[in-house]
Amino acid sequence: MIRLVKASRSYGIPPVIALDSISLDIGHGEFVAITGQSGSGKSTLLNLLGGLDHPTSGQVVVDGIHLESANDHELTLFRRKKLGMVFQFFNLLPAMTLVENVEMPLLLRGEHGKSVRTEALAMLDQVGMEHRAGHFPHQLSGGEMQRGAIARALIHTPSLLLADEPTGNLDSTNASQVLEVIAKIASRRTTTVIMVTHSDAVAALADRRIQIKDGIIASDSTRTH
Ligand code: ADP
Ligand code: MG
Repeated sequence: MIRLVKASRSYGIPPVIALDSISLDIGHGEFVAITGQSGSGKSTLLNLLGGLDHPTSGQVVVDGIHLESANDHELTLFRRKKLGMVFQFFNLLPAMTLVENVEMPLLLRGEHGKSVRTEALAMLDQVGMEHRAGHFPHQLSGGEMQRGAIARALIHTPSLLLADEPTGNLDSTNASQVLEVIAKIASRRTTTVIMVTHSDAVAALADRRIQIKDGIIASDSTRTH
């Protein structure tokens, strides 16, 4: 599903090396937690996997697509079809209701009509948010917004869900509700889930834990059930 071959990313001159020749394989349907201190390169890694950023050298292959050499059009198609992304700071559009936010990826794909609304409501139901469909983001709690953001990230049934500290800005009640949703999605094994987290307890939910330190993989362990 995912293969990194000696992927590096550095910034500026003189270069700050954010990722240093990382090689990694992640299989379809895996649930992976990426941990590491602030500044270790976690977001850089996630951005490479999401095609939001190019490696300075090396390869980043997702679902057979070489992201390191893909052009903007190919990257846009990749994101629309295969990728869902969730960030720490909720990225719902404030002028749209929750259900309209969730519909957005389908509209971008050119779908229209009643089925779009039906699908969006069904997706909101899956994250326990159908009762808030007509609310605007500012009327929701942080955890509710984040569950809405997850619904939007999943509405187009992506093969890969990337989450960058999805509970980093939430209190423990909201965080556990969001994690429950992520764990449920991961348990279906139809979507590969890669989640960056600071928390050991959160990382323990995943099947595999990759620790990043100073831009390299410090450890990579798979939980035995
Ligand atoms: P993490 O997500 O683990 O906190 P990041 O991947 O955001 O770490 O950053 C890794 C390193 O790369 C840090 O030293 C950071 O300062 C640097 N870095 C990240 N993005 C940029 C950028 N756009 N320009 C310059 N340096 C950056
Ligand atoms: Mg980060």
